[in-house]
Amino acid sequence: MISMKILLAEPEYYTKYPPLGLLKIGKMEERNGSYVRLIRGNTIINDFTPDKIYITSLFTYAWKPVHEAIEFCMKAYPDSEIIVGGIYATLMPEKLRKVFPLIEIHTGLYPQAEELLPAYHLLKEVERWRNWDKSIVFSSRGCVRKCPFCVVPKIEGGFKADKSSIMPFTHPGHKRVVIWDNNFLASPYSKGILRELIEYKITPDFNQGLDARLIDEEAALILARLKPKSIHFAYDFKEEASQVEKAISLLSKAGFSKRNLIFYMLYNFYDHSNNMGDTPADFFYRLNDLIKWGVTAYPMRYVPLDSLDKNKFISPLWNAEKLEMIARARRVLGYGGSFVPYNGFVNKIKNSKCFEEAMELRPINEESKLNKTIDAYNNLSVLMV
Ligand code: SF4
Repeated sequence: MISMKILLAEPEYYTKYPPLGLLKIGKMEERNGSYVRLIRGNTIINDFTPDKIYITSLFTYAWKPVHEAIEFCMKAYPDSEIIVGGIYATLMPEKLRKVFPLIEIHTGLYPQAEELLPAYHLLKEVERWRNWDKSIVFSSRGCVRKCPFCVVPKIEGGFKADKSSIMPFTHPGHKRVVIWDNNFLASPYSKGILRELIEYKITPDFNQGLDARLIDEEAALILARLKPKSIHFAYDFKEEASQVEKAISLLSKAGFSKRNLIFYMLYNFYDHSNNMGDTPADFFYRLNDLIKWGVTAYPMRYVPLDSLDKNKFISPLWNAEKLEMIARARRVLGYGGSFVPYNGFVNKIKNSKCFEEAMELRPINEESKLNKTIDAYNNLSVLMV
């Protein structure tokens, strides 16, 4: 007998991944005998009036679609109970409460749903996720580090690694898994899990990033056997240079193409409590290192945890013009936003003495120099200076 009708609602923000939290809640509710449906955006399901609606949220700057989803559900289902959770709800519950005093706000995770295999079958209902064929797994929560710009310690607390296998959390029909741990290699079980993936012929996606400081020879060799298309790491502080360089060398010896090692590079970060942050010179230093080491750099502009606007924050150590230089160089010289160490780009960086030279674009003809608008700039052919 059906105990309740449940609606899971994913707001219509940009995301590469389906709403894992909602799918776990969906499984939890199904176990309780509920009938569960999933929607993305403002969609009405015919002949279905839910008793309870769970709405998720993502980063704080993506708050607008979340508010729209709440308004839509309140209007469409005035008698249903509404619960809003996820990152934005956890970081800014007071903002939500002020606008929507009658809804319930859930902060943090649902421990009772954490250990369940997500209800992936619900994705078939949503056009965007209909062909999704990967399992998203966590073998650990939290992180051993406390990077000042990171949301993880706030949302997940201290490091907890208690899963020695991810197979119970991998859908039997999936041959690919997205490892969503914040710091997978910090788990004492990580190498065993990687061996498990080799044994079951499952391809991992480390899009979330691995901690280069934790790469040793054994990890590099096992990772190489898994043959992921690429692996992401981070190079956020120049003090990490020797460990990053060592990880690149181990992975390259293990058989990785260096270009497939992608390093996120945070910039525009400023910590007001300690009055410290990175600078354009620091960006140039790290970019120079990565290009010299032959790997790919992926610049990531810092957005404060409570920012309601994606690219509004400008660190006191940066300015709008310099931030725009990076955005422009990524569009024109980058490949999907990354700086890949192709010869032309390597030479450009090698011959640059400072940030401005490295990020400068030179239009082909003199006339184009007069064109000051960014849009027009994007339409021009450019030479690497
Ligand atoms: S290592 Fe990664 S997950 Fe851990 S605190 Fe730093 S940025 Fe966050």
